[in-house]
Amino acid sequence: MTAHATDRSGTADGTAEARALAREWTAPPTTSLRWTPGARLTGIDPRSTPGWEGGKAGATALVAAHAPELSELQERLFAEGRSGGSRSMLLVLQGLDTAGKGGIVRHVVGLVDPQGVMHRSFGVPTAEEKAHGYLWRIRNALPRPGYIGVFDRSHYEQVLVVRVEGLEPRAEWEAHYDEMNAFEAEVAASGTRIVKVALVISRDEQKARLAERLERPDKHWKYNPGDIDTRLRWDDYVAAYQDMLDRTSTEVAPWHVVPADRKWFARLAVSELLLDALRSFDLGWPEADFDVEAEKRRLAAT
Ligand code: AMP
Ligand code: MG
Repeated sequence: MTAHATDRSGTADGTAEARALAREWTAPPTTSLRWTPGARLTGIDPRSTPGWEGGKAGATALVAAHAPELSELQERLFAEGRSGGSRSMLLVLQGLDTAGKGGIVRHVVGLVDPQGVMHRSFGVPTAEEKAHGYLWRIRNALPRPGYIGVFDRSHYEQVLVVRVEGLEPRAEWEAHYDEMNAFEAEVAASGTRIVKVALVISRDEQKARLAERLERPDKHWKYNPGDIDTRLRWDDYVAAYQDMLDRTSTEVAPWHVVPADRKWFARLAVSELLLDALRSFDLGWPEADFDVEAEKRRLAAT
């Protein structure tokens, strides 16, 4: 990899306002939201805001106050990728229908330059995708160096909808947990930092959001009659999520469980998890691979 300038003086981090707002975290979200294998998913209150004491106004304000830093770190990552670096980020979003995956993409990922984002949503596999193993389309969508990859649903559907709907025999989907752990270990080793987020909504909140999609003509496009059939299997999905969290939370790719009945909290939580991951890269600006002074003289002479 190329050498990097160590001067971080240009970083937009640590404005006094952001620092003051961030004090409303009584425990960092990387800790308070990180899944502890064996914990009960049903024990998580979807309306709770673990670790956060700042309320809705504080949350909205902190997302805005951290946006410049998030955006600058993304640009540094992109610059590094352009300069021979191999690092990238991958945000994996899982959650039942209406959990707010799209809202996270719009309101959180939307804070950074879209040129540096590789977004992909995964629906029912196409005929071409079905002709390959389930990781084929996932591998093809992995972020290139310098990019932030965003998966709206992911390979995990293979142990969620596939399991619940019985689309594969048990012996097949049972094998996927270990396969996914091995796959993610390989992705992480290649320089991709993986941030996995499971958005958790309550049955009542999902009902209200589906009702809104039916009430409002501008939301009909988001409604899918099949969502009701999925909803009827609520307990099966909870069991599938529980096993996914327990069996695929690893050191290199832990799950974060984000209560999502309050959209403002989910957005705050994911923006903070992304920011933490980007900060951990300790990104500088790439050093010029040309003689800056010589170029200034050349330019002046024109
Ligand atoms: P949406 O996210 O609302 O666009 O819906 C996408 C749909 O694709 C959901 O119902 C998912 O359960 C479904 N889906 C995603 N991946 C798979 C998969 N591997 N096998 C079957 N269905 C899938
Ligand atoms: Mg849907």
